Amino acid sequence: MTSCPCFANRLAPVRGLVLLASLLVTCFCTPPEQASLQKRKEADSHLGPKPLVSSSAVSTQELVLAESATRCAALALQRPLAPPQNPDHLLYYVNRDRGIRPSYPVSEFSIWTPCSGGPAPHLSHDLICLSKQYTVGDVSLRRIAFRSPAPSQPRTTFDGLPVGYHGDIGFQALVEAAHDEANLRLYLRSGYRSYATQGVTFANWIRDERIRLGLSWEGAVRKVSTYSARPGHSEHQLGTTVDLTFHDEHGVLYGGWDLNTMGNSRALRWVADQAHRFGIVLTYGKDKVNVTRYQWEPWHFRYVGFEAANLMKRCHLSTEEFLSLRYQQENVTWAKDDEPTFTLVRP
Ligand SMILES: [Zn+2]
Repeated sequence: MTSCPCFANRLAPVRGLVLLASLLVTCFCTPPEQASLQKRKEADSHLGPKPLVSSSAVSTQELVLAESATRCAALALQRPLAPPQNPDHLLYYVNRDRGIRPSYPVSEFSIWTPCSGGPAPHLSHDLICLSKQYTVGDVSLRRIAFRSPAPSQPRTTFDGLPVGYHGDIGFQALVEAAHDEANLRLYLRSGYRSYATQGVTFANWIRDERIRLGLSWEGAVRKVSTYSARPGHSEHQLGTTVDLTFHDEHGVLYGGWDLNTMGNSRALRWVADQAHRFGIVLTYGKDKVNVTRYQWEPWHFRYVGFEAANLMKRCHLSTEEFLSLRYQQENVTWAKDDEPTFTLVRP
C-alpha cells in the first residue's frame, strides 16, 4: 500500500481502528478508481503471472470487500454534516475517552428526570417522559428519538438514492413495527440518564461485582468498565439511547441482562436486523468489541437519524467507526468541558 505520511500520522493515535485507518489512507491518498487499479496491480505483482486457479492469500472476494469498505469510508465523509461538537447533535461522539459535560442537559448533580416529579430544574431540551405503554418503569427520552414524523419528501440514503421506506422513525415507530410486522412486544427499560444517575449506576455495578465475585475495588472497576460507562461517557446521557427488553416466548417480560438469552432472543435479533429503518443502530456489536472496547450489548440501541443509520448498516460500520471517520475529517478539537471529568473515588 502506498504510504501517506500526512494521514498516517493523524490516524495513528486512533486505537482499534487499524483496518479502517488503512482503508482511509488509500481513500484519501488515491482516487477510488486509481486505488482500485492500484490494489489489483499490487495483488498481481505479488502473485506474478495470473494462475488459472488462484491460490493467493489475496482473494478476489477480499479485494471486493476492501474496495467496498473504501467506498463506504468515502461515503461516510461525503455528506456535509456539521462537526458534532454539541451533545444535542444526533451524531455526538462519546466513548471511553471522549466525554459529555456533566451539566448536559440538566444541572450537574441532579438525578431529576422528567418522570420522577418534584421541582424541575431549568431544562432547555426536548426530554419527555414516555407513556407506560412503551416502558418498564420511568423512562425519559428526547422527543426526536422517540418519534420523528415521516418527511414530506421521499427518504434518501447517504449518497442521495431514494429508498422505499417513508414512515415515521424513532423508538416508538420501531416498537410498533415490531408488533405489527413480527408479533413482538418490545419495551424501553432505560433511556436518558443524567451524569449523576450514570455515576450511581456505575457505582452499583462495582458494588455488585465485589459481592458476587469477591473482587478488589480496583478489580471490580476494571471488570465493570468492560460493560458500563463511567459518568460523562455514557450514550444514555445524550437522551437518544435506550436499553430494550421484551416479552419472551411465554409472554413474560424478560427482566435479566443475560447476554446469550438477550442476544439470541427473536425480539432483539429482529431489532438488530431492522433498526436502521427507524434511524436506530446497535452501538456495541458482537463483532466490534475490539473497536468499541465494551462487551457486546444486544439490548443497547441509539437513535442517530435515518441516513446515518442506513449508511452504518449498509457498510457494517459501528457508531464508533463512523464517528471516528467524521472526527478525523472535521479535525475537531475538544472544548474544555468535553474533557473526561469523572474521577472514581475509592470508598
Ligand atoms: Zn445501555
